Amino acid sequence: MSNDKDLFKNIISHSKEYGFIFQSSEIYDGLSAVYDYGNYGAQLKNNIKEYWWKAMVQMHENIVGIDSAIFMHPKVWKASGHVDAFNDPLIDNKDSKKRYRADVLVEDYTAKIQGKIDKEVEKAAKRFGETFDAEMYKNTNPRVVEYAKQISDTEARMKKLLEDNDLVAFKQLIDDCEIACPVSGTRNWTEVKQFNLMFATELGAVSGESETIYLRPETAQGIFVNFLNVLNTSRQRLPFGIAQIGKAFRNEIVARQFIFRMREFEQMEMQFFVKPGTQKEYYEYWKSARMKWHKALGLGETKYKFHDHLKTAHYADAAVDIEFEFPFGFKELEGIHSRTDFDLTQHQNLSGKKLQYFDPELNESYVPYVVETSVGLDRMFLAVMSAAYKEEKLEDGSERVVLAFPPALAPNKIAILPLMKKDGLSEKAMEIFNLLKIEHYCQYDEKDSIGKRYRRQDAIGTPYCITIDHQTLEDNTVTIRDRDTMLQERVSISELNAIISKKCSWIGLMG
Ligand code: ATP
Repeated sequence: MSNDKDLFKNIISHSKEYGFIFQSSEIYDGLSAVYDYGNYGAQLKNNIKEYWWKAMVQMHENIVGIDSAIFMHPKVWKASGHVDAFNDPLIDNKDSKKRYRADVLVEDYTAKIQGKIDKEVEKAAKRFGETFDAEMYKNTNPRVVEYAKQISDTEARMKKLLEDNDLVAFKQLIDDCEIACPVSGTRNWTEVKQFNLMFATELGAVSGESETIYLRPETAQGIFVNFLNVLNTSRQRLPFGIAQIGKAFRNEIVARQFIFRMREFEQMEMQFFVKPGTQKEYYEYWKSARMKWHKALGLGETKYKFHDHLKTAHYADAAVDIEFEFPFGFKELEGIHSRTDFDLTQHQNLSGKKLQYFDPELNESYVPYVVETSVGLDRMFLAVMSAAYKEEKLEDGSERVVLAFPPALAPNKIAILPLMKKDGLSEKAMEIFNLLKIEHYCQYDEKDSIGKRYRRQDAIGTPYCITIDHQTLEDNTVTIRDRDTMLQERVSISELNAIISKKCSWIGLMG
């Protein structure tokens, strides 16, 4: 059994060993922070997309989906502010030559202090027993109060200097907090610099005539520039949303933590267009709707929390993250932003095209406000994978690794396993495979002992194993083994399709 430290490592190696995630271009030693999804990974990823698309597009009469191009006119990124302001503050340690995001260094520093608070509270809770009041303790214990003040002072300072874009003061903050490089242990830092995260490339083959274009750093702008097209063709009226799933690219300074921070990743974004003045109401609506969507997966109620942004982006009047408890702590999984009319107004100004909605009730036109929900598909994948990964000790003393995916998300729904190859069992099993494959992802496996095959299916998260034995040939019944309880039930072949459809249905998730 692994401790927490090893857990993440084990999840990474399990993902590779069982065909979920491979390092990109691995035979050439890989490309940093770029990953490929393997045979089971691609399927799990598709199912997560389907869960999102169903919940957002299919289940809302006032949301439609699009699929816009990755390449866009360069003016898009000028209008959106990405050319001028899509920067991260970076700092290098002169001894280790390692590069860091300056804001992340400070966040790690405050997280450490928070860790000290949590420890104090935990110790006190043990000391005082049942009568312990944690809130009161946090408000009155001098040491804890001092720690909390250190955190809020540091955060307030960072918020101010980020707003002022004061990089000299940023360096001073890192010095004052006595932050050391985690690799070299020294405080020998360079100045803080701004670094643009967009990848640029050239359009056009003739040198001198080419134009710099960017790989999109977010999918949202593809929605904004299509606002009028969708409005004119979809018969939607405000409020309505446009959803999209697609690749985004960011030249992240510090790419780490596996697929948590990648340079090429996928986003599932929805822009909800509303009447100005109603944005707060829809912001609250989407905050709770999105949290409900996450929790419906059953990965654990306590694994999610909201985190308000310290500094809202240049386009937003309110922003919150839904954080998930990854094996390395609570981190952003999804962002919900009230983006005002910033993007549409910017595009209207730069393109010279009116991007407005005619409100028949008010008999006037205006630029709508926008509430955005944006979740990283790869981060969802990591959340699902890490919550599903379990190392279990069984009653007979043996151990198994199981991926307890919600059945609707599992890459394969069913494994079809003839108890042995001979006596016509293989043929009968193939018949059942052909019967079920139209509606369900099935895997046929006849190699190795049945126990080994069950373990292999547990390790890739297949919720149900169907075993074909000699009795099957006599009465057309099979056993279904449940991945989580490991219990088996005998059912008739004619019932299989309906049973599996019910067990793997989306209904329970859609609420
Ligand atoms: P972070 O603060 O972690 O860099 P962000 O606030 O810049 O993220 P957004 O611009 O709000 O992220 O993007 C929306 C979502 O896209 C994030 O919540 C995250 O799930 C996902 N995402 C952003 N950057 C990456 C990345 N480099 N790799 C994987 N997913 C990402």
